[in-house]
Amino acid sequence: MSALRPTLPLRYPPVTGEALDSWLEFLAARLHCRYADVLRALGLPTRDVTLAKPMLPRWAVLATEEEIAEIAAVSGVPEAVLVAMTLRRFDGHAVVIHHDQRRVHRPLLWGRAGSRYCPACLMDSGGRWQVTWRLGWSFACVRHQMLLADRCPACHRIPRFHAHPRSATPRPGRCASPATAGSRRARCHHPLTDTPGVTLQPGGAVLRTQHLIDHLLTAPDRAVRWPLHGPGGAPLQAVLSDARCLAGWVLNYAAGSDLAEAVEPEVLHRWEHYRSHRPDGSPHVRGTQHLAQHSYFAPDDAAATAVSLTAAMQVLTAPSVPAAGQAVQWLTDRVTASGRPLHPGGVALLNGGTISLRLQAALRCSREAQVMPVARLRHRTAIASTRAPGDQDARARMLPTALWPEWSLRLAPWHASGKPVARRADELLAVACLLVGNTTKIHAAIRLMDTTVSSHNVSSLLAELTRRPDCADVLHALVLLADHLDQHGSPIDYARRRALFTPRPNFVDPAHWHDLQRRLRSNHTPGIAHAHRWIFHTLTGTPPRLAHPAIAPATRAQRHQYLRFRWRILPAEAELLNGTARRILDEHGIDEPLQWAPRLDAASLRPLRLPGPDPDSITKARLHQAAPSGDFSIAQVAQTLHTTTAHVIYLFSRHPVDWSPPRFRRTQHTATRVGQWRTWYEQDHLSLQDIADREGTSLATVRLALLKNDVPLRPAGSYPGRPRRR
Ligand SMILES: [Zn+2]
Ligand SMILES: [Zn+2]
Repeated sequence: MSALRPTLPLRYPPVTGEALDSWLEFLAARLHCRYADVLRALGLPTRDVTLAKPMLPRWAVLATEEEIAEIAAVSGVPEAVLVAMTLRRFDGHAVVIHHDQRRVHRPLLWGRAGSRYCPACLMDSGGRWQVTWRLGWSFACVRHQMLLADRCPACHRIPRFHAHPRSATPRPGRCASPATAGSRRARCHHPLTDTPGVTLQPGGAVLRTQHLIDHLLTAPDRAVRWPLHGPGGAPLQAVLSDARCLAGWVLNYAAGSDLAEAVEPEVLHRWEHYRSHRPDGSPHVRGTQHLAQHSYFAPDDAAATAVSLTAAMQVLTAPSVPAAGQAVQWLTDRVTASGRPLHPGGVALLNGGTISLRLQAALRCSREAQVMPVARLRHRTAIASTRAPGDQDARARMLPTALWPEWSLRLAPWHASGKPVARRADELLAVACLLVGNTTKIHAAIRLMDTTVSSHNVSSLLAELTRRPDCADVLHALVLLADHLDQHGSPIDYARRRALFTPRPNFVDPAHWHDLQRRLRSNHTPGIAHAHRWIFHTLTGTPPRLAHPAIAPATRAQRHQYLRFRWRILPAEAELLNGTARRILDEHGIDEPLQWAPRLDAASLRPLRLPGPDPDSITKARLHQAAPSGDFSIAQVAQTLHTTTAHVIYLFSRHPVDWSPPRFRRTQHTATRVGQWRTWYEQDHLSLQDIADREGTSLATVRLALLKNDVPLRPAGSYPGRPRRR
């Protein structure tokens, strides 16, 4: 056989894509010698020492470097070409190989033993086998537009399950499996080129899917850049794992009617036949555990593979995560209809394999309408999140007990009658914001927010939000708020303020408060408890009902009065209370803004459907213009401004208006300026009229202010040396 050395490479080179074993057999056939003779000539072992039985090594799966080098030296075929004739380049990408046994790991990446084949290709090439036919991902020949054949039609064995017998001379294109009858050494030898084939529709979904897969297999180590898997793409192995998961579901749960449009009737018929049997061949009983096994091993039927991978690839090639969610919804509907729980948290664990985070996100999107609202928050389905929920309890420090008023106004649902859908909605929304992306239980989140609402109320509000069309995007807004906090933080440590100020029974000096009241209002002066509440509320963002018992409003009427106090607060009162609150922070060495609320960019909010108005849609100037002088009703102002009473209440709390009767008018100005007026009057000897002119106010205002501040007034025009006014 030494003659092999110079002649082999010239006369019998391997064909493109050929498997190593096919080529070795072809050489032996051409040289009319036993298979073992060619192996010896190439310096290959005729027995795999790692195997118990005397068997040939599975070279087509994996050849060692020494073997490759030896074959290259003898045959002159470059080593790189020889390596490409084995499954090695797909190892870890499209298949997983047990290197010591040269065996494909079957449960991973749909590995399979033996090889499919295209009868027409065998005919054209004179019996040369493609290496990719060994992959579970190959089910069709795109050249001949046919399904690949799985078994020899005569002996029904899978070809190339074992190596070619050593002592026989190979007959290319014929079945080398043992004959079903006759001696132990007899071979089937059925011409595989005669295998009847299933023709596929040119341009149909099945052929397009095989095209797509073949393209991926040309460079198995290159990242797959499909939109679903994000800008960086994903390794082929991850994409194929995803495909395997989805294909497994199609095999186990899909109905024929789901796929009739995409797949040729004959292919679909074979898929249905395949599914009606358990993977081990026995007929299966619907609803048993064996169902799921269809996804464990690669289907040993090309039609079953074709249908399930075609459906899977339609999901994986969707243009975005939400689009993939839509594309897969029919399938996840089938899975859940089977009684199998498909909670969004569990999708990663299905089918015993791992699936990519982005496919997990798409699956969650597909279940959006079916999963519990709290799960939607945890999985951030509104933004098609690819992040699994984790511990987000640190966010509790960045959240006030009641969601910021500007956000509660926008996010809390209202009945058409103007009544709120939920009491304490602002506290419930704050808990909801803490639950975003979080694994913490609802009652634990409530504790972290230092509130007293019930888990049931949180769940009810969330359910209500998902039911009401006008609230369609409230959960989305909560996710955006939570993400904003996680990303940018909050300048206020609300947890510290809650800890510091909740045990405190008073906040404002009664003398200061009463002094101010004497100057501002004739009667109906608001109680100092309201002032304490206001400061507590402003400092902590916690409703006063949760304050120290000494100041917490106990009755519904008291709570109502406090609310009224908030929006009827006079500018001078707000100024005093703000100043006091600021001083309290300074005394504690807290270098934080008194109040704060996160702002999201308008572009991300604009498309959202939210139940409440944009608080900034009405300016302070417009508000003050709309407020009539003297006392007024909120409903009336809301009507003038074409908005809700809740909005107007919010605006007046934020921008107090001086609604006091005329004789107390300009009290805000008066209260802050009276010291200056006194100086002018007593030391600079200006007249009341001079002061009024300077300040653009009335003589009566100046006169009243000085009187109220116990400044002794001179008789008109009595100061010597000052020209008398006319
Ligand atoms: Zn072909
Ligand atoms: Zn056969």
